[in-house]
Amino acid sequence: MQQQTPNSPRLMKRVVVSSGLREADIRPPALMSEFKRLSVHDAAEYFRDPASRVETACPACDGADRDPAFDKYGFQYNRCRACGSVFVSPRPTAEALENYYTHSNASRFRVEHFSRDTAKARRYHLLSSHASWMCQAYDEAGNREARVYADLYTHSPLIFDEVHALGVFDTLYSVDPILSPQGETQAPVRVVAESAARGLGAVSAFEKMEHQFAPAAFLRAAAAMLAPGGLFFFTTRTISGFDLQVLWDKTPYIFAPEHLNLMSIEGLGQLVARCGMELIELSTPGQLDLQLVEHAARQDPSIELPAFVRYLIEERDALAHEDFQAFLQKHRLSSHVRVAARKTKE
Ligand SMILES: [Zn+2]
Repeated sequence: MQQQTPNSPRLMKRVVVSSGLREADIRPPALMSEFKRLSVHDAAEYFRDPASRVETACPACDGADRDPAFDKYGFQYNRCRACGSVFVSPRPTAEALENYYTHSNASRFRVEHFSRDTAKARRYHLLSSHASWMCQAYDEAGNREARVYADLYTHSPLIFDEVHALGVFDTLYSVDPILSPQGETQAPVRVVAESAARGLGAVSAFEKMEHQFAPAAFLRAAAAMLAPGGLFFFTTRTISGFDLQVLWDKTPYIFAPEHLNLMSIEGLGQLVARCGMELIELSTPGQLDLQLVEHAARQDPSIELPAFVRYLIEERDALAHEDFQAFLQKHRLSSHVRVAARKTKE
């Protein structure tokens, strides 16, 4: 990246992208509805016992002060008074979550339908841009002597084809994959256990942070896999984004335990810093906020959009919508966030 002061959000890279991405391509409504139905049903089943849930501090800044934000399907979301992150507490214990992700119908559905049925569109729109983002950052800011790339808990094995095609890394690992890369990708990938992944040049975790019991522990575990100067890349949803701020508890497809952590932009910066890493990039290249708001309001008559938002959507043209989305990206106000962090310490 260009000259940047670590952890100084004002100087950090911000990207603006537009690729004609449509929500329906990567998250088809029929699949999403079924996944949500199964998740809500399974969550009620798996976490019914109050003993399976524990109170937690803010997952981003570790602050203890919070206000109730909203209740969704029996889970209490809170808003951190210090950093504005929104998070579920009490939340299922790490053990209860692991049991859920291993055995629930929702998880099985995710692997069987989601990863495969949307693979082509995801590859075209997301995975190729994830791969070039990571390889470019590695070229510019990584430890070039550490030449292994690993994806954690892979659910889109085609990421390896995209990374392999760029020829930047010597070796590719899939750490404890959710969908095994064997037979799913042409690239040479080794499946390894977390404990065997050490001294790596780059590690990625796409759409995982939001359902971690403890994001800080997750980040520290990723840091432990990296060589000094190695890079950790992750994507997640942020409560600072336009669609979540406007729709709040009515945001479709936000539910537990998929979304335990909706960390704010400010909170994400603090999280990275307190895990002994430095921020290389924190940007929100989301392309869908306005589309998501418009769609949600059309589907759910109980949603009352602020007058300005309704006016923008209904009375202004496609160019205004595009420019507005570009503004959200530029100022880190979209809800799809991506982060690149560098390991500084052993
Ligand atoms: Zn906080």
